[in-house]
Amino acid sequence: MNEEIMNTSQLISVIGLGKMGLGMAKTLKRAGFAVRGMDLSAQACQTARGEGIDVAEDLPALLSGASMIVLSLPNSQNVLSLVEGTHGLAKLAGEDTLVLDTTTGDPVLTRQIADILSKEGVRYIDAPVSGGPRGAESGQLTMFIGADHSDIEKAQPVLEALGAKRFHVGGVTAGQIAKLVNNLLVASHLLTASEAFKMAESAGVSIEQLIDAVNAGSGRSGVTLYNYPSRIMNDAFDSGFTMGLMRKDVNLAMDLMEQSGLKLPVSSKVGAIWKASAAALADGDDFNRIVTFDSTEH
Ligand code: NAD
Repeated sequence: MNEEIMNTSQLISVIGLGKMGLGMAKTLKRAGFAVRGMDLSAQACQTARGEGIDVAEDLPALLSGASMIVLSLPNSQNVLSLVEGTHGLAKLAGEDTLVLDTTTGDPVLTRQIADILSKEGVRYIDAPVSGGPRGAESGQLTMFIGADHSDIEKAQPVLEALGAKRFHVGGVTAGQIAKLVNNLLVASHLLTASEAFKMAESAGVSIEQLIDAVNAGSGRSGVTLYNYPSRIMNDAFDSGFTMGLMRKDVNLAMDLMEQSGLKLPVSSKVGAIWKASAAALADGDDFNRIVTFDSTEH
């Protein structure tokens, strides 16, 4: 039996049809699921309809008949507002419905969200992702998963459709913690690589001259292997991931560091530089633009 025939009976609701959510909706549809979406933005709804996605006008219409709800919202505060209250998702979704939250968010709010849902018998998985809009659209995302084993089993066909690499890190919130670690590292590597390359250029060796050597050496990172050649050196800055979202993630990592009571001086400096970048780089700019930010004052 092919994947398409296997999945047709299951209706998946997707909330948030932005750069990531729309790609995921299309991927799920391609995998044979019935898909219905919703977004607060009229523009996002129109784009989704243009891509063949059925779009609901309100939450009751969206949730009717859905066995699973995929969330792709900017932050956990958006998820909390959606879930709580008399007319919120927790009250409206049926018992045993499964929420797969792919939003990169706050572990503390994530715990709160899972508890609100749990009181109504709604199950919750945090599964923030890596791989960008292209990964969402092609079903090639990396997923950082926090959940009970039984919920993962139930969500397996959807997880398989969306994620080429899926890591069950631990219980609820573990996915968010892993994703914040990942993004703190990316945020740090962008800063350290840009400084190291400036040093090389002022000593007379260009990035073009040294990048392949660094990428064959032990100093390489995702940033030198991928971001520099594909987004930065060609001046494309078109990753689909914004400064605003990365600043949110770095701030969340700083919150986590504070909650842990640890003093992490290098990470603190990274957090301060990304925060200060708001004065020069707009929320809508590509996050790779951080390599152009003059951080000498911070
Ligand atoms: P986006 O801003 O393009 O899309 C978010 C969408 O959510 C918007 O269309 C917005 O209108 C909608 N929305 C907000 N609140 C809503 C609500 N209450 N109900 C319905 N719709 C609502 O953002 P994105 O780039 O798609 O990112 C989504 C999430 O994925 C973020 O948490 C981000 O950090 C994470 N992420 C993004 C990327 C990337 O490359 N873009 C990569 C990995 C993870």
